Amino acid sequence: QGQIVCVGMGMILGAHMAPRCRSYIEQADIVYSSCHHLMQRWLEQLNINSHSLQPLYGKYKDRRETYAEMIEIMLASVRAGKRVVGAFYGHPGVFAQVPHRVVKLALEEGFDAHMEPGISAEACLYAEMNIDPGELGCQHFEASQFMFYQRIIDPYGYLVLWQIGLAGDLTLTSKISTTPQRQLLLDKLFEYYPPDHQVAIYESKTNVMEQSRIEWFALRDLVDMPLTMISTLVLPPARQMPVDRDMMASLHKITPRNY
Ligand code: SAH
Repeated sequence: QGQIVCVGMGMILGAHMAPRCRSYIEQADIVYSSCHHLMQRWLEQLNINSHSLQPLYGKYKDRRETYAEMIEIMLASVRAGKRVVGAFYGHPGVFAQVPHRVVKLALEEGFDAHMEPGISAEACLYAEMNIDPGELGCQHFEASQFMFYQRIIDPYGYLVLWQIGLAGDLTLTSKISTTPQRQLLLDKLFEYYPPDHQVAIYESKTNVMEQSRIEWFALRDLVDMPLTMISTLVLPPARQMPVDRDMMASLHKITPRNY
């Protein structure tokens, strides 16, 4: 009976993967992966039957087509009765459509399927940038989706924009965003943030020997920032959260005097 487990390998090579994920990888009949080159090599040491899905990406190819192909390849192995592992860097369920969809489809076809969490870029960001998402709140959006749709930003909390390097790309291929595309994103952000608001590009190290990139700059300079496929944009709150006076008054009314 075929099964699939989507596991997260974490961000840092050889350092972040949970023992459970590791044993799923080691015991799998076949491992499909989407991660960078060095991680792929490590994976091959854990399970010799590991195959990278990365070649399915193409510079001029719609990412949705790539995702559909990845899902079909993994499901075909499940249907063939294999114990399949889908290994993804970071957390397999964070800003990643393929693992969620393949688990759902496999379950619908009656196979065993589940996800094992991993350490995502989000988790590393909180640790390295000293941010507690519970302190002021933290919104996360995919940068292009944030541009394509009308969303409500909470300027009192953090805003994190993922895939900032691809912001505004209507072709959904894998090209780094252009100056006009970034300018349009800025126009939207300027409704909430002043042009000199200090923001940061975060790029977690993926290897213990490297240093993470935490680069602060004025929001307006986003157009000139070097961005890559692993860049994440972090916008700290623009304003102090105002007290909800009506609510506080109502709460005081129902709170016993001698509490
Ligand atoms: N599943 C992954 C995220 C995949 S989506 C995870 O759990 O982290 C790809 C996006 O994640 C990138 O565009 C970027 O916004 C973010 N990302 C990927 N690698 C990163 C890194 N090393 N540092 C910071 N953000 C990263």
